[in-house]
Amino acid sequence: MKKTVLITGASRGIGASMVRLFAENNYNVIINYCNSKEDAQNLEKELLDKDLSVKAIRADVKDYTQVVSMVEEAHKIFGNIDVLINNAGIAQQKLFTDITDEDFDNMVNVNLKGVFNCTKAVLRDMINNKYGKVINISSMWGVVGASCEVHYSAVKAGVIGMTKALAKEVGPSGINVNCIAPGVINTQMNSNLDEYTLNSLKEETPLGIIGEGEDIANLALFLASDKSKFITGQIITADGGLTI
Ligand code: NAP
Repeated sequence: MKKTVLITGASRGIGASMVRLFAENNYNVIINYCNSKEDAQNLEKELLDKDLSVKAIRADVKDYTQVVSMVEEAHKIFGNIDVLINNAGIAQQKLFTDITDEDFDNMVNVNLKGVFNCTKAVLRDMINNKYGKVINISSMWGVVGASCEVHYSAVKAGVIGMTKALAKEVGPSGINVNCIAPGVINTQMNSNLDEYTLNSLKEETPLGIIGEGEDIANLALFLASDKSKFITGQIITADGGLTI
């Protein structure tokens, strides 16, 4: 039977790459977005035109009520959600001493509380079904820490902690919880990096390249599949070797 995946923050970037790959691999795909309605609708149209099974639904992952409404709407269209990919995220570069309370709270609310909200909204059904895959998108900076991104690094480390703890709790219910920690990926999130910085990053990376959304999508597809049924609680870094 066709499985259903909910991908948060899927209007562009890594999320949109995952939408395309999962839709092409016979999943029903919920394209979650918050602000970029046009991007999400264009992506939905692109895939519907190929007779693929997708639906764009708005919800701000910070807001549990909106997340529950999205999950209820998804349920009406596709039935149970089998796979949740917590991908929605924001980044910010600032000196630690310049980070305001508002910056910090927003970082926590989108990147960590958002993961909590979306997981909470789908987990009860997964437990009842004794089946589910939760894939959290953290960052290599959550593993090794980034200068001028202390709040980002802290919440991405929180996502890693949540992954490991939840994997232990829901493993007996047949649910795998894993985490991908991407390195530098070519998306809008890095559009502020100039040519010089990008070239320096490439030089520091053993594989000598910047990642693409598809590199993360391919890994997520594997973690969503039963080929990875013995893998849970893992943090898999995909960064071209930058943080080895
Ligand atoms: P991106 O191109 O900036 O896309 C971010 C996505 O998150 C957008 O679709 C955005 O949707 C969504 N989003 C932001 N706030 C949201 C909210 N409150 N509710 C729902 N959706 C929200 O970034 P990306 O590079 O694809 O990043 C995807 C994930 O990978 C993030 O968690 C990021 O931290 C992580 N990551 C990225 C890199 C990298 O180098 N790019 C490296 C490591 C980790 P709207 O525009 O519709 O609001």
